[in-house]
Amino acid sequence: MVTGKEPRMALPATPRTPGRLVVVQPLKRRRCAGCRRGPLSLLMLEDGAPRCLHCADLGHLVFLPRGDTALTRRAREESTLSAVVVRFNRRRSRYERQGVLVEEAALARAEARCLADAEARRRRRARDGRRRAAEDERFAAAFAAEILRLFPGCPAERARAVAAHASVRGSGRVGRSAAGRALTEGAVISAVVAAVRHVDTPYDQLLMSGVPRYEARRRIAAAVESVLRGWQEAGEEDTG
Ligand SMILES: [Zn+2]
Repeated sequence: MVTGKEPRMALPATPRTPGRLVVVQPLKRRRCAGCRRGPLSLLMLEDGAPRCLHCADLGHLVFLPRGDTALTRRAREESTLSAVVVRFNRRRSRYERQGVLVEEAALARAEARCLADAEARRRRRARDGRRRAAEDERFAAAFAAEILRLFPGCPAERARAVAAHASVRGSGRVGRSAAGRALTEGAVISAVVAAVRHVDTPYDQLLMSGVPRYEARRRIAAAVESVLRGWQEAGEEDTG
């Protein structure tokens, strides 16, 4: 933005870029050089003299604060007449953009365009969500099938639960890792071992009672091993 100290009279050296009018939020109390109204909340400089927006023929414009980039861009596109609103920042010693003045009808059209975009985005997100959910479901089903191939004695419900847990998107669990994606035996077995450890052994209680992790794992290793062996060999009717 324009830099320099806000001068007493000749306010900013407002750039005379065609199609880019500049309106100032003055820090000091200022009156319109034309109609003497004041103090002005917004003014425009004409030959260094402050003018109120009515005298500057901008009185019909509405203020759109900065913040929504897309709305601002569109409102200016839609508006035949528009102005940039700036205020002097004493600390940084420069004028900073506060928003724009645009025609009310232009702002309404811009808002409608942004709403239409938001609706389109919302529908796309919903579609993406449904597609991901279907992918997750297919992946979990393949994972469960692989568990049952390796552990035919594992109850189908348990296999589904382990697969669903391991497949949760964004969880960083084994099912989402590259290895899990590829459904390698190693990945499937680690998911099953983790589930057995937490569900079929007192592992969690040991951890909660302050037993160090390696010691807790050592104490339950035989129990895990026994459950896995049962699932590898036995039919479903032999397990609980
Ligand atoms: Zn005036």
